[in-house]
Amino acid sequence: SKLSVRCRSKPQRQVCKTVLQHFDAQYREELGEQWKSARDVLLNPHSWQYGVLLNRFSDLTNLEQGLRALGYTSLLPRVQPESQSNTAHIPLQCLIHRDPFRLPNQGHQPGWLKQYFLLNAASVLPVLALDVRDGEKVLDLCAAPGGKSLAILQTATPRLLHCNEVDPHRHDWLLKTLESYVPTTLQHLLSVTRLDGRSVGGERPGAYDKVLVDAPCSNDRSWLYTPDTHQGDIWLKERAQLPLLQTQLLCSALAAVRPGGVVVYSTCTMSQAENQSVVEAILTSYQGMELLDLTQLIDSVSDHFGFAHLHPPVGHLVIPKKGQTWGPMYVCRLKRVY
Ligand code: SAM
Repeated sequence: SKLSVRCRSKPQRQVCKTVLQHFDAQYREELGEQWKSARDVLLNPHSWQYGVLLNRFSDLTNLEQGLRALGYTSLLPRVQPESQSNTAHIPLQCLIHRDPFRLPNQGHQPGWLKQYFLLNAASVLPVLALDVRDGEKVLDLCAAPGGKSLAILQTATPRLLHCNEVDPHRHDWLLKTLESYVPTTLQHLLSVTRLDGRSVGGERPGAYDKVLVDAPCSNDRSWLYTPDTHQGDIWLKERAQLPLLQTQLLCSALAAVRPGGVVVYSTCTMSQAENQSVVEAILTSYQGMELLDLTQLIDSVSDHFGFAHLHPPVGHLVIPKKGQTWGPMYVCRLKRVY
């Protein structure tokens, strides 16, 4: 086997006190007791687990067997529940480990497809909620570095996967990811752009069957490790601006999806202002939008993920806890009725 079994965890990092104080005040209020266990996980990077998303387009000979021998297990049952139609659905292969192993990243080699992508296993939840079917036209509005675009391609063969990313540096990163994981024979399905996601709905109204808005957010895991207090202050100011941007991106997505189409909104923060409040604002301001039920999907992963008790109960939030350090990941599915 080519599998290297070197496993390592993140190097020591400093917690930013300003950000921690801010989180303590906000999340104690919003999450109560659940904040305690999430806090313990976030403050202990050595406990963080890593999911391994297998690339069905690469040569996986021996890899899966090797990982299972190391104690990796599947996040999802082999046969995943059919939720909406009879169209074939390819099971997504995400392997998890109960210990905080971190496989090495595979280097980019021209002409060779990488076998796996390391991710927070809760990141597959928005992709599963999107439930892409063969032949659909899909937009990933905020796509870099491309983990969810890649996961979408693991579950189905869309007619079009439009991956958009506004930031030039991250746009290049997205291109690299797609090149490293997607075979040249499927590249014609992809369209990669560098647009401001807020304008896409106006420019391409009703053009897609499914749209993913994996929104820019105050990424709770990395913000806690802001290098210095000054940077922490800047980020906390930026944080206040995020709900407006998120609402605009979600509006754009709802304009870009066809009537009857589905939009999934996700973030990797626990902040109510960036999660439920954004979705609620949309539901109260626009007619013809409906919140879709995700109970079946949530039940299928509830052995692995801890979920927060949300107030108001709009969408679902994976919240890290001891031994199941996945998340934070908020997910909500909306339908454009007309
Ligand atoms: N979906 C990605 C993945 O799974 O790999 C992660 C996306 S990250 C949470 C959010 C992304 O949105 C960032 O790369 C950020 O640069 C991008 N972004 C921020 N503002 C945007 C905008 N106005 N339009 C499009 N993308 C934007």
